[in-house]
Amino acid sequence: MNRIIVVGGGVAGMMAAIRAADRGKKVTILEKNSELGKKILITGNGRCNFTNEDMKSDYYMSSLRFTDDRTGEITREFVDKVLSGYNNIDFLDTLSGLGMSYYVREGYYYPKTDEARTFRDALESEIKRRDIEVVYNFNLRSIEKTSDGFLLSDKKREYHSGSIVIAAGGNAAPKTGSSGDCYYYLKKLGHNILEPQPALTTLKAAYPSDLQGVNALSSISLKIDNKIIRTEKGFIKYYKGMLSGIPVYQLSVEAIAALRQNSKVELIVDFATDTNLQNAMSLKGSTVREALYKSINPKIVDVILRDNNIDGEMLLGVVDESDIKHIIELFSNVNYEIIGFGGFDSAQATLGGVDIREINPDTMESRICKGLYMAGEIIDIVGRCGGYNIQWASSTAVIAGSNA
Ligand SMILES: Cc1cc2nc3c(=O)[nH]c(=O)nc-3n(C[C@H](O)[C@H](O)[C@H](O)COP(=O)(O)OP(=O)(O)OC[C@H]3O[C@@H](n4cnc5c(N)ncnc54)[C@H](O)[C@@H]3O)c2cc1C
Repeated sequence: MNRIIVVGGGVAGMMAAIRAADRGKKVTILEKNSELGKKILITGNGRCNFTNEDMKSDYYMSSLRFTDDRTGEITREFVDKVLSGYNNIDFLDTLSGLGMSYYVREGYYYPKTDEARTFRDALESEIKRRDIEVVYNFNLRSIEKTSDGFLLSDKKREYHSGSIVIAAGGNAAPKTGSSGDCYYYLKKLGHNILEPQPALTTLKAAYPSDLQGVNALSSISLKIDNKIIRTEKGFIKYYKGMLSGIPVYQLSVEAIAALRQNSKVELIVDFATDTNLQNAMSLKGSTVREALYKSINPKIVDVILRDNNIDGEMLLGVVDESDIKHIIELFSNVNYEIIGFGGFDSAQATLGGVDIREINPDTMESRICKGLYMAGEIIDIVGRCGGYNIQWASSTAVIAGSNA
């Protein structure tokens, strides 16, 4: 059969459909929403960071990492295979060929218009140019294996095809259409689905309400059972009782896995590194508070001084060296115990999904069910923030679209 059906019209679905159509296949996309690529519009704060200059398998994780792949070998091999099939350079070539302009800042790639819509529209116009059929408002309700392929149906319609690409996303940001319902159909066909969990999300900690809305540059370390695991730099955001911001998202996958194993999880926030605080504290005549304000968000300064009973009006020159050392240490070592995490509504990605051991990374075909291919977030792989997830969706999609 020359026909391919793609379930899901996100990045992965569109990229797979374009590739398959370029091979002369007759492609139909079945999409739950009334538009394509709804999630793309909210990526990268509306700017869509679609890939990264620094592309390595080390920046991806699967939930096997927390079960039987402790060394990360299976995950690394799988991701390396996929990236050797289609990587960031290939992706940039594709987008250039489609006439989309982009820019790079600190290794992160964005559309030159700085609008996520540009990326979405560039893919959508390729779907139209190739006459790819798109069936909107199609909420897949069953996948049946037939003697010569698959029968896909919603409540009213049926589509038949020799091979299918499942690109229906994971559970993250369900309001964009990806509510994880396709895991069920894949499980019914015999696949192992590793429990989906929110990834790249907020972490919950108790902090004074004065800090609501503060956004502060810092260096944040994840500590699990009293051992520092990793440090990330960037803005920490205090928002609605949660800790947020890219460095928190980057640490969230390991933090959540540890919380689920009842480990003690802390974030140690260092506001003093990479500042001129030491110089400010040596200027006789100004107050401790004035010196701290030169480097650290005033609300953070006020809260930490107050909670540690330190008089911010003390004059430098009069304060003992050991007290100054103690104050700087307080700002280098602010400890938040993590007591929860944001759900799928606030997550950017999903950890868990289809077991990578059941997918051939050279083709993205299921090892369990011949003729069924998978792409994107539905697979149990999550990348760091920085364009790695859209790259993943695109790499897996191009491989699936080349082989389905
Ligand atoms: C707020 C936010 C910001 C992000 N920012 C970035 C970023 O800057 N860079 C980056 O790399 N990644 C980012 N990501 C992650 C990235 O958006 C995803 O990893 C990527 O879009 C996944 O693509 P996908 O095509 O696999 O899935 P999705 O984009 O989720 O697409 C799946 C599609 O399948 C459809 N579907 C689902 N179920 C069915 C069904 N039963 N029947 C028919 N259709 C169905 C859905 O409606 C959806 O259109 C962000 C995510 C979020 C939520």
